[in-house]
Amino acid sequence: MSDWLTPGLAHLWLPYTQMKTAPTPLAVVSSQGVRLKLADGRELVDGISSWWTACHGYSHPHIRAAVEAQLATLPHVMFAGLVHEPAARLAMRLAALLPGDLDRVFFTESGSVAVEVALKMAIQYWRNKGRAGKQRIVYFRHGYHGDTFATMALCDPEEGMHTLFAGSMPDQIMAELPTDENLRRAFDLLLDTHAERIAAVIVEPLVQGAGGMQMHDAETLASIAEACRRHEVLLIADEIMTGFGRTGRMFACEEANVVPDIICLSKALTGGTLPLATTVARRHVFEAFLADDPGAALMHGPTYMANALACAAANASLDLFTSEPRLVQVAAIEAQLATELAPCRELQGVTDVRVKGAIGAVELCGKIDLDGLRRRFAELGVWVRPFGKVVYLMPPFVIDADDLSLLTGAVYRVLTERAASLP
Ligand SMILES: *Cc1c(COP(=O)(O)O)cnc(C)c1O
Repeated sequence: MSDWLTPGLAHLWLPYTQMKTAPTPLAVVSSQGVRLKLADGRELVDGISSWWTACHGYSHPHIRAAVEAQLATLPHVMFAGLVHEPAARLAMRLAALLPGDLDRVFFTESGSVAVEVALKMAIQYWRNKGRAGKQRIVYFRHGYHGDTFATMALCDPEEGMHTLFAGSMPDQIMAELPTDENLRRAFDLLLDTHAERIAAVIVEPLVQGAGGMQMHDAETLASIAEACRRHEVLLIADEIMTGFGRTGRMFACEEANVVPDIICLSKALTGGTLPLATTVARRHVFEAFLADDPGAALMHGPTYMANALACAAANASLDLFTSEPRLVQVAAIEAQLATELAPCRELQGVTDVRVKGAIGAVELCGKIDLDGLRRRFAELGVWVRPFGKVVYLMPPFVIDADDLSLLTGAVYRVLTERAASLP
């Protein structure tokens, strides 16, 4: 075994982990394509793309070459008063790719911070327009927007950390996703009642990820955008998970022909290689910050914003969306996930199977032994990490049909074993 694992673990604090009882994490030594190589020599087929980032698989030579070339010339430079080509090119490309006039790009280093910046933009937008009372944010049940204080307050109150940090978080307004006529009327009434206090509505378009892989249709998304427009409320699309092809289009908003006022992107932005996020604003949002008063400017600036290595990786990642058939691959994954996960529906302890793009989710009921399920998946040679009530697959888009069958087969097998042990 590795000589660093046990002594190193004595000093590591892992995420979302009860360090007293959690099983020892697996030691990874390298990654290639859709496979993770472990220190003990085993290989796991990755079913979740390192928290949904590694859309081109690991160690894609094109991204590696771009990062190496950037490392040799300009790894990083502060981004105030100075700019560099990788960031400028990336901003131009994102503006061209994104729908409508979403064309002003603010860089940060993580999804949570991208959402924080979106919130600042939305609140200050109204303030700059003389409507300082519009400060509240509306979010949806099952939503997830990050782990920082402002973003925690926008996560599902039952699944999120609301109870833990009650009293320390800003008070925001939760709504139900308006998936039918009654809910649409209720949502409309909510915006109508509080319009003078609401700066923005934030939504994960089409798929709510960390809140349990809940899916809604394009019509629901379009109705949210419509209501926002009618009530003079900004719409923030959190496409940190859905962006860059995951739902079948480059951006999930496209499926509903929705152009949000602000969009947040991260996760697959660099193809899973380096941390980078962006908050992109439409022209009218940006223009509300233009004034002779310095106080009207956006007051935010992470130290490592627009890191040049990360921007180079993101540019290379965007190249791959044109030089390789990513969206075609996503469509094939969608069809295969739908076929191969469908039998899970018949298993005891399964309440739903949902597929959208390269996302497949099986929802469970009854007592769920997450550590036990995770251990079984690793024993079967796959890296699948269920959370809450869902076992889900979000493989790299480059996965071939055989490896994908390995993943879906493992899900079916592990859930069949679980069904047999249920009372
Ligand atoms: C992961 C995620 C975030 C938070 O991103 P971090 O980089 O983990 O801070 C926010 N919103 C959505 C939809 C996400 O999936």
